[in-house]
Amino acid sequence: MATMRNAYLDALGIDRWVPRSAPADSPAEIAAAATPAPAVVPELRSPVAPRSPAPPAEPLAPAGDWPTLRERVAACVACDLCKTRTQTVFGVGNTQAQWLVIGEAPGAEEDRQGEPFVGRAGQLLNAMLMAIGLPRETVFIANILKCRPPGNRDPRPEEVSRCLPFLTQQVALLKPKIILVVGRIAAQTLLATDAPLARLRGKLHTFGDAETPLVVTYHPAYLLRTPADKRKAWEDLKFARGAFARVTGGGNA
Ligand code: SF4
Repeated sequence: MATMRNAYLDALGIDRWVPRSAPADSPAEIAAAATPAPAVVPELRSPVAPRSPAPPAEPLAPAGDWPTLRERVAACVACDLCKTRTQTVFGVGNTQAQWLVIGEAPGAEEDRQGEPFVGRAGQLLNAMLMAIGLPRETVFIANILKCRPPGNRDPRPEEVSRCLPFLTQQVALLKPKIILVVGRIAAQTLLATDAPLARLRGKLHTFGDAETPLVVTYHPAYLLRTPADKRKAWEDLKFARGAFARVTGGGNA
């Protein structure tokens, strides 16, 4: 198991420290990964500058259950992205999951396969999750937009406004213990701020009426382009793992 996790840490580009007195696959090796570890301030709830003006999410009658919500998303024509999609990308994973991972929007491969975070970015996300002990099938993964913006452009405010209620309902059904948001666009959208990602990382935010704890990190596609920031992502993941442990009284997934 430790050997497997080492492979995921390697995928993150994290140097592993092996204590001389401990066997290579010991828990101490995992706990000491990514040295030196910059200090991360726990439980730092930091208000971020609000974005203005943000279009309000439009009301949507609660679906009440996963199959109904999935059907509604599949049939949705509420914005023009329905005209260019191959299919909607509802989200994937364990509907009992305690972790919800949220990205921005489907890309080309996601549009083809109907599943979020596939391809190289998806593989790196899987490695990021495994590095903190979370197999992909134990979490739920979704995007803010359920349809691919042409050319992978940024989501438009009206598209977010129309689609966000679906994500809000996914959160209501899942009731996650923690939300991990990957990427600047998703973070700024969910936190309704224009603050740069650097100011949103390393802080415990909340989302929605339930004030679900929310942690921000880099999008894996960005990390593929900028591997030097993988170490910061690893700090974010450890921060999220610590926040989850505090929320749940020490549990993992
Ligand atoms: S992006 Fe969302 S709101 Fe727009 S058509 Fe797709 S499912 Fe509907």
